[in-house]
Amino acid sequence: MKIMKFGGTSVGKPERMHQVKDLVTRDAEEKIVVLSALSGTTNALVAIGDAMAFSDKTKAKELIDSLAAHYANFIQSLVYSEASREKATKIINEHFDFLNIILKISFNDALNKDILAQGELMSTKLFCVYLDEIGVDHVFLPALDFMSIDSNDEPQVPVIREKLLHVLAQFPGKKMFITQGYICRNAKGEVDNLKRGGSDYSASLIAAAINASVCEIWTDIDGMHNNDPRIVKKTRAIEHLSFDEAAELAYFGAKILHPASIWPAQHYNIPVKLLNTMEPEAKGTIILKDADSDGAKAVAAKDGIVMIKIKSSRMLLAYGFLRKIFEVFEKYRTPIDMITTSEVAVSVTIDSTLHLDEICKELQPLGELEILRDQSIVSVVGNKLAFQASLLTNMFDSLADIQINMVSYGGSAHNVSILIPTPSKNQTLQLLNKGIFGLD
Ligand code: ASP
Ligand code: MG
Repeated sequence: MKIMKFGGTSVGKPERMHQVKDLVTRDAEEKIVVLSALSGTTNALVAIGDAMAFSDKTKAKELIDSLAAHYANFIQSLVYSEASREKATKIINEHFDFLNIILKISFNDALNKDILAQGELMSTKLFCVYLDEIGVDHVFLPALDFMSIDSNDEPQVPVIREKLLHVLAQFPGKKMFITQGYICRNAKGEVDNLKRGGSDYSASLIAAAINASVCEIWTDIDGMHNNDPRIVKKTRAIEHLSFDEAAELAYFGAKILHPASIWPAQHYNIPVKLLNTMEPEAKGTIILKDADSDGAKAVAAKDGIVMIKIKSSRMLLAYGFLRKIFEVFEKYRTPIDMITTSEVAVSVTIDSTLHLDEICKELQPLGELEILRDQSIVSVVGNKLAFQASLLTNMFDSLADIQINMVSYGGSAHNVSILIPTPSKNQTLQLLNKGIFGLD
């Protein structure tokens, strides 16, 4: 059995949904199809929740009505028969009635999660109406019946497996199952989600749970590229990555794959393929256990980084200093991305400023602080980078004119990272494209 996951843009227009049908009916292999919400829907639902949280009911109502109009329009080109249009209209009416009811009751976080779940529920149900209309045999599989997170908001594959196998066993002989990405139940049994972009994570968890032959992630680009195609003109798709390489790239900025979606596939050794709905014959990227070659494969950048430097002569020859620093970040549940040390200073980067003020206040007694905002981490990712002697020379030669605030090398064999001011990011990516990959 394989997993085929389609993102928001792949289902965002009726004609794209028709294409998804073509792709899922191309072969006879048993499959679970995981769908995101139509593109733009989850953003709209977030805005509706925000408006309700601020008790701005007029704004919330406006947003609900405009989203409802979008769906009313969508189904007109999705399905054609009177009966299918009626079925589809009934579905969207139910979901928008629900949103309108929520508008009238007092708002809370659990309700917000219910709001956020509407997108995936609608996209999958509408897709099933379309499959029904054209006579494609399938089963609608509610993710809320099997996808779950524990009290730490962590999904547990064995738990998901047990529930999923139980559900699947009720449909012997069936070959195609349609389910929602992103949504799940939490430890209290309430509707919850796997955080923004979480449909990839759902796909990978399901793939791990059923020991799938492959987890296909279908998007609108032909795989992971060696550099950011939105910024750099000449980029190329990478045919093969190891899980370690893909994890670094996904974490350090490659938007195509949710970073959390790597571990279930890696742990249960399920191949992941990144494929393009617009160009189904293109090879895309395959992610497997081992790398196929050594050396630099890609560059990625992550914005919104803050650097904190703690300078103290007391650190000189002292021990326990780093522990004190780390404890502060632990207390505020703020992960550190990069770290470099000298004998009298430590620099760390974080990507969440939520607790920056409290963190700085507690770090103050440890030394003099310097904060740099608006920074980007640029990472060069590949296999056994340490053995590629020319890499560092090429990197720093090409970046002679860029201000580099931190360098991290040796932390893993798959990554060399630098910290630069975000305004220099585009130039940095361009220069590295030439310096490392010879692409101009
Ligand atoms: N619809 C959700 C989002 O936009 C989940 C996903 O598409 O991956 O974040
Ligand atoms: Mg996505």
